[in-house]
Amino acid sequence: MMEPSLNQDDTVVSRYHAVRQMIDAAAIDVGRDPLSVNLLSVSKTFPASDIQTLYHAGVRAFGENRIPELESKAAQLPGDIEWHFIGQLQANKVRRAVRLAACIHSVDSLALLERIDRIAGEENRCPGIFIEINSGEESKSGCHISEAPELVLRAAGMAHVKPLGLMTMSAADATEAEQFRTFEKLAVLQRELAAKGVFLPDLSMGMSGDFKAAIAAGSTWVRIGTAIFGGRS
Ligand SMILES: *Cc1c(COP(=O)(O)O)cnc(C)c1O
Repeated sequence: MMEPSLNQDDTVVSRYHAVRQMIDAAAIDVGRDPLSVNLLSVSKTFPASDIQTLYHAGVRAFGENRIPELESKAAQLPGDIEWHFIGQLQANKVRRAVRLAACIHSVDSLALLERIDRIAGEENRCPGIFIEINSGEESKSGCHISEAPELVLRAAGMAHVKPLGLMTMSAADATEAEQFRTFEKLAVLQRELAAKGVFLPDLSMGMSGDFKAAIAAGSTWVRIGTAIFGGRS
């Protein structure tokens, strides 16, 4: 097991706590319970030692977007880390994702959903899944919002996935008002599905640059990389 370096420790842990405080403040601002907003530390591109440092400070949920990187980090780190896969998932990497990830935030097609369900059954797993909705032109990932209800309904009927919610990213150049409108669409869909008897507890929305708008719109999982770990080159 690696020893945390003290300088790094201060930076990553203090940034984590600062982010957590900003999340709590954003929740209180809009009359929400801060405990209803989970913080996913997005550790992609950063070394396992940074994760170990945060682990020592009590953090357990980490987000990765590449399978080889997730595998390499998981092999070096404690087994009770809750890994969330947040990247585009190719069909030929589903088994590796299912073996390691507690949650997959990027399910955007029926083919992928069916494959995850089948392989999770074979692997004796039941990952939490989010249906990813494409809210911007620049990103290729995510389904159209009109396709999401069908995917959620199908997931609700599957034995080896646990449908948790909807996920999206706002456009990089969006204003805060535009971010809010993007995120609010998912909250509206979540309520429409609940009215049909399909309850999704979670909304995975908000990153370093837009988590306030996401929390105002109802996010329960903000996925924060840069504000905790620093910039990625
Ligand atoms: C990288 C990434 C994040 C974190 O983004 P930051 O802007 O660094 O906070 C969140 N979600 C997804 C899907 C990502 O790929």
